[in-house]
Order: sequence, then structure tokens, then C-alpha cells
Amino acid sequence: MVKVVKFGGSSLASAEQFRKVAQIIYADDTRRYVVPSAPGKRFDGDTKVTDMLYSCYSLAVKGKSFDSEFEAIKDRYNSIIEELNIDLNLEKEFETIKACFIGRAGRDYAASRGEYLSGMTLAAYLGYEFVDSAEIIFFNEDGSFDSKRTAKAVANRLEAAERAVIPGFYGSMPNDTIKTFSRGGSDVTGSIVASGVNADLYENWTDVSGFLICDPRIVENPEPIRTITYKELRELAYMGATVLHEDAIFPVRKAGIPINIKNTNEPDDAGTFIVESTSQKPLYTVTGIAGKKGFAVVNIEKDMMNSELGFGRKVLEQFEKNGISFEHMPSGIDTMSIVVHQEEFVKKEQEILSGIHRNVHPDLIDIETDLALIAVVGRGMKSERGTAGRIFSALAHAHVNVKMIDQGSSELNIIIGVHERDFEKAVKAIYEIFVLQRL
Ligand code: ADP
Ligand code: ASP
Ligand code: MG
Repeated sequence: MVKVVKFGGSSLASAEQFRKVAQIIYADDTRRYVVPSAPGKRFDGDTKVTDMLYSCYSLAVKGKSFDSEFEAIKDRYNSIIEELNIDLNLEKEFETIKACFIGRAGRDYAASRGEYLSGMTLAAYLGYEFVDSAEIIFFNEDGSFDSKRTAKAVANRLEAAERAVIPGFYGSMPNDTIKTFSRGGSDVTGSIVASGVNADLYENWTDVSGFLICDPRIVENPEPIRTITYKELRELAYMGATVLHEDAIFPVRKAGIPINIKNTNEPDDAGTFIVESTSQKPLYTVTGIAGKKGFAVVNIEKDMMNSELGFGRKVLEQFEKNGISFEHMPSGIDTMSIVVHQEEFVKKEQEILSGIHRNVHPDLIDIETDLALIAVVGRGMKSERGTAGRIFSALAHAHVNVKMIDQGSSELNIIIGVHERDFEKAVKAIYEIFVLQRL
């Protein structure tokens, strides 16, 4: 049995958190490969080391002094090392990093040092071998992830290491420079390592007791989800439930390795199991609710649109030509709506609208902005009737005006569009009807 364990930033924010992490690792002999993030926030209003590194580096690029900012980063690590009495001196590493900042080694290099130093510190504390991710995680020339080369390197290198710490978030480019995944990317590293060593389980340790039914910043103390399928999770992650990076699903899914989201501060809580499929009935009709702000919707009306061959294609062509992808496209007989990311869309708005006018001569085009999308996701919805109706009536009760609704063909999710100012209210209302009232 082999487990790969990833610890997020808040799990490694301070010496006290490092202690908890070590306890968790030592409690189970099969937790052999550890993927740490950079130290995160210790308290509300604190700054993550990754963000400190980004700001430090942008000063360096501008040729400004960054001494005091760099000292603050050193302090984060040195205070952990001192408090835990770890036999480690990072002074040489700090010097190298500083020189590379001055030499403009790149923004990705800068950010990656958070995980690199965190990994060295944790390895020394645990007495585990340190394996630099730059040696085993690779990107292609075009910046995409090189899964083949990586899988081989991870398997070979870790076969030779009984126990190791492998820093999250980064790897190397063909020219040996450092590249990171997008923010939150240590989750992806954990998943890649789990698949590379063919782990039995990928444990992802964070600061909540699993994937919660909805964002705890919107609903107070939402219930955790016991078991969720990869598909459901992907829908939720895509729509902003950021507990797990959305790209962290593919490597383990391919290898059939389940993920267990666990809480470093409450290690006995069961957490959430993420699996390919399950016969476990969900407790509620709805597995999870997630949403995002910042969308716009283009509504197009034309009599007899339905019978006009190629209408949809001609409309979408205009978006494609301008490099705008669309999120959803609910349609009626004489209407179609295209939901897009507002920030991207506004830059190309006039080109797209005049293109549509020229191409399909609609009766009316109207744009609604400041839309939030909410995904209500659940494998249980397929076998239950009236889910959409219940959502509508809950929202009507809460005086939320529904601007759009789109049910995916898999019947796994329903997407609802509301005005941004109603977003939190709508999420609460949906949670209440499906979970608190448990109808
Ligand atoms: P880590 O630093 O461990 O990677 P993250 O901050 O990336 O942790 O993810 C955990 C956070 O995700 C939680 O603290 C919580 O605020 C937020 N979150 C958003 N949606 C959800 C959800 N549905 N369930 C649990 N946590 C959520
Ligand atoms: N430290 C990186 C970030 O803050 C990666 C991670 O935590 O997963 O985005
Ligand atoms: Mg994270």
C-alpha cells in the first residue's frame, strides 16, 4: 500500500502546522510520498509566501530594491526552522534565489521557490529524502504538460526513494528553466506523483473537512460531501469550488486512484472521497453547489430562427473569429443566448455584434451583463423528478430573478444565471431547499 499525501498552504503556514503535518505522516506508514505547498496564510489578512515572492520579483524586474520584502520571506522559513529545531540552514539557498531574482530568472521561477524551500524544510524535519520537482516534472516547448516523460521520470526516480518530499506547483521546461502550473497547482503535482508511483490513494490535506456542499464563505458550516464522482467534482471545480485544482483530476482518474480530501486540523474527520463511480446513494438530491461571477449573456431573437439552416453556426462563428469561447448556450424556438466571460467579451463586443447583424439579420440583440452562474450538480438528479422546479420555487421565495437556466444533457447539472448581486442569496436558497429542508 502506498499513499501520496499533499499538504496545502494553510497546512504548512507555521511551525505548529508543520507539527500537525508530521504527526499525520508518522501516523500511517504508507504515507511515503509527500507533496507540500508553500506556507500559506497563518491568519486572516496574512500573505501567502507565493504572493510575497510574486511581489518581490516584480520589484526586482523593475530594478527596485527588494531587500526588506525578501527578508520577510526568509523570516517565514527561518521562524519555522528555529521553532522546530530543524537541523537546516537555508542561507545559501536564499543567496542563490536572490541572485536569480536580480538576474531575472522568471516569474515562474520566483513563485516556485515557495514550494522548493517548503519542501526542503519539510524533508529535513521528517527525515525524508528531498526530490526536486524540476528533475521529474516536465513541460513541453509550448508550455503544455509533458505527461509521458514525467510519468517515466517520476516512476524511475521515486522507485529509488523509499520516502520522499516532492515540492508542488512546478517543473521544468525543455531548456531547463522553471515553469509552474496555474495557481493552486500543487494539487496537480500531488496527482501526478500519485499516478507516477501507482499509489493506492491520493490524500489531499487542506483546511476544511472535505469538499463541502457549497462554499463555506457563502453558507455557514455547510455539510461535507462523503463521496463524489470525478465528473461531479469537475463540474463543481470548473464553476469555482476551488478546493481542488481542476487539472488535478485527470492524472489520478486515468490511473483509477481515488482522492481523499482531508482536514489537517481535524485529521479524524472522514473527509471526502472522490471516485470514478459509486453505488453509494447521495444523501441529498444535490451533491454540490458552486458558482462564479463575471459573465455576460448575448440574447438573440429572430422569428423562425429554428427553421433557418446554419443559424447557430453563423452566430457562433462570430465569437470564434474573435477568439471568444462561450460557456453555455441555452436556446428556445426563436431565441438563443450565448453566455460568455464578460471581461473577455467587452473587448471584442462591437466586432462580434456587427458580425452577427451582418451574418444572420436578427430581429433583436440584447446584452445582459454582471451575471453570476450557479451550477447545481448531482448524480442523484437523474432519478428525481422536479429538481429544476424546486430550484425555481426556492429562488422565487428568496426574491431572486432567474435570468437563465440550462440543463446539461448528462442530467448531472443544472446551470442557473442570476444577477451578481443575487449570487450569495441564490446559493443560500438552493442549499436550504435541498439540504436543510431535505425534501
Ligand atoms: P489549500 O491551501 O489547502 O490548497 P485551498 O485554499 O486551495 O486550500 O482550498 C480550500 C478552501 O477552499 C477552503 O478553505 C474554502 O474556503 C474553499 N472552498 C470553496 N468552495 C468550497 C467547497 N465547496 N468545499 C470546501 N471548501 C471550499
Ligand atoms: N503556492 C501556490 C499557490 O499559492 C500553489 C499551491 O498552493 O497549490 O497558488
Ligand atoms: Mg489549493
